Amino acid sequence: MTPVPDIVPDLAPDLAPEPVPDSLAACRRLDRADPFSALGRRFRLPAGVVYLDGNSLGPLPRASEAAVRRATAAEWGRLLVGGWNAADWIGLPARTAERIAPLIGADPDEVACADSVSVNLFKLAAGALALRPDRKVLLAAEGDFPTDGYMLQGLSRLRPDIRIRSVPRHEIAGALSDDVAGLVLSHADYRTGALADISSLSRQASAAGVLTLWDLSHTTGLAPIGLAAAGADMAVGCGYKYLNGGPGAPAFAFLARRHHEAFANPLSGWMGHERPFDFAPGYAPAAGAARLMAGTPPILSLTALHAALELFDGLDPADLLERSRRLSDLFLARAAPTLEAHGFTCVSPALRQARGGHLAFAHPQAYPVVQALIAAGVVGDFRAPDLMRLGFSPLFLSRADVWTAADRFARIMETGAWRNPAFAEKQRVT
Ligand SMILES: *Cc1c(COP(=O)(O)O)cnc(C)c1O
Repeated sequence: MTPVPDIVPDLAPDLAPEPVPDSLAACRRLDRADPFSALGRRFRLPAGVVYLDGNSLGPLPRASEAAVRRATAAEWGRLLVGGWNAADWIGLPARTAERIAPLIGADPDEVACADSVSVNLFKLAAGALALRPDRKVLLAAEGDFPTDGYMLQGLSRLRPDIRIRSVPRHEIAGALSDDVAGLVLSHADYRTGALADISSLSRQASAAGVLTLWDLSHTTGLAPIGLAAAGADMAVGCGYKYLNGGPGAPAFAFLARRHHEAFANPLSGWMGHERPFDFAPGYAPAAGAARLMAGTPPILSLTALHAALELFDGLDPADLLERSRRLSDLFLARAAPTLEAHGFTCVSPALRQARGGHLAFAHPQAYPVVQALIAAGVVGDFRAPDLMRLGFSPLFLSRADVWTAADRFARIMETGAWRNPAFAEKQRVT
């Protein structure tokens, strides 16, 4: 992969970078003085591991562990079916959506917490087409997260009258023509981490009569997002990445209030009905974004996510992004000699303000290098075709962690430890 052109988002705070500490002791000194450091203790992380994959699966918040234990033993175990009322399981999707709303610049009734990103994207894209019946194109970016494209392909098989048009990410603004019903775009590129400018693209799309559907999977809980202020129409996002909701945590969907009345959910299940327990034969949608729900909510997963979201109380996403960037600045500075000596190319934006929460480095042997790193206690991931991807989650990583990761990376490259044939064996999940 080659580096992408930078697009500088309006919303990214442009604070002066912290001078990069020059020793492990200096990292520890800065960590001790940093109020963020206390947040790390609210996670359960294995000792000795530097976890640079919170952008793929956030680690376990202690609060989630306790909440799931309570929901199984005290609620499911004792209340049985009565838990829907007595423990308010039925209200849990809305209570969870309420905690997500401020992180994306939305009101609680504009957010639903349900299903997966893929399924929510399908519901919203289908609904967007119905809101723009005279337009037949969905515009997307080449190289966006594959499931988004797969879902649009499935939708286009049901709607043979529509077309999916994919253009390079930096050409999106120029492709907002009057046949486009909706723009489906990731806020952060899942490979390079490059941020798109939600604010300016949403404004340009609105001016062209195009509905926006943002995929916020790689930025919710990491970066400031102002959906309402930007005039965005729709969005989806992930519960198990920076939100730390656990493996397979429910996703969320945003629908701007101005579309509530007209929007029709194509997956019109009973949990999106205005009165599911009337058991009426005809469908009538619930008010607000709650109409985006379809089936019975996964209460144990929602419990974990709801508790994990407590960690964001009182935090400003602009501070989270700045902290993440300080950590990635430190990695870039400390790992520079290794990266250069061993032929790694950084494909993430060179411009700090265009950077999201992770860095990606192209290298022909990225797969075995990542496996060797994991064996050395530095967990990152490999993304096809040739990327080593390292995430700098702001909630639980310290400067000392990042320093240690860069040192272990240097050792693996210098000793050639990554050449061990065991590291070349591909696993089912990468
Ligand atoms: C992680 C991620 C998804 C995941 O989708 P699911 O259907 O929830 O598995 C989708 N889109 C993007 C951009 C992602 O990063």
